[in-house]
Amino acid sequence: MLEIKDLHVSVDGKKILKGLNLKVETGKVHAIMGPNGSGKSTLSYVLAGRDGYEVTGGSIVYNGEDLLKMKTEERAAKGIFLAMQYPVEIPGVTTMMFLKSALNAQKRARGEPELDAMGMLKLVRAKAKDLQVSEEMLKRALNVGFSGGEKKRLEILQMSLFEPKMAILDETDSGLDIDALKLVAEGVNTLRAPDRSMLVITHYQRLLDFIVPDRVHVLAGGQIVKEGGKELALELEEKGYADVVKVPA
Ligand code: ADP
Ligand code: MG
Ligand code: MG
Repeated sequence: MLEIKDLHVSVDGKKILKGLNLKVETGKVHAIMGPNGSGKSTLSYVLAGRDGYEVTGGSIVYNGEDLLKMKTEERAAKGIFLAMQYPVEIPGVTTMMFLKSALNAQKRARGEPELDAMGMLKLVRAKAKDLQVSEEMLKRALNVGFSGGEKKRLEILQMSLFEPKMAILDETDSGLDIDALKLVAEGVNTLRAPDRSMLVITHYQRLLDFIVPDRVHVLAGGQIVKEGGKELALELEEKGYADVVKVPA
């Protein structure tokens, strides 16, 4: 699904990723863990195609295509979805309006037929119900005054509506409480599918108590320095990053 080779990335002239290698398999959940400031969020932004991240070396192949040649919208159209760590608040737009226009924009970009108002309403309502997003929340202004848990639920709802091929969740600094963590985990677990890969980025091991990853990769100093199965996450929890990995200078 995704193969990153010797990736080098700078932001504002500062080198952040320094030769990162990573392979993500179709249908699997991969976790990326790593100390603060190791470049985890940078990696997620580079994959989504956010402006300001300069790739100075290496390659990213996504489903056989050169990801780095694709514009942000094209990546989204081809199934890459980055859940927003800090969701935007839009006072004049209801959550339902936002989901409708975002989903139809996605469908246009994919060359799929758009849904009419009735079809859209039905779809959003059905998925919202599954994820315990209330009708009342859909009528409120987007993210305005939403609790942390409500924002997370909306994020998962958006993800399930978009049906991504490659979902990236960056939870590093969001300070989720245990209920929000469980929600994210439930969402991720529900969305596991043979044709969908997920990259779950987290600083904390406890998220991985609820999402059992197929592979764990440790990012430190801009490189993947260790890889393993789910037991690696437990080892990190027990011993800390410093004891488990040698952080490159
Ligand atoms: P993580 O998500 O693992 O905590 P980040 O990817 O957010 O790490 O950041 C990696 C490093 O890059 C940090 O040292 C951070 O301070 C630095 N960094 C991130 N964004 C910028 C920026 N816009 N300008 C300069 N340095 C940045
Ligand atoms: Mg950070
Ligand atoms: Mg981060």
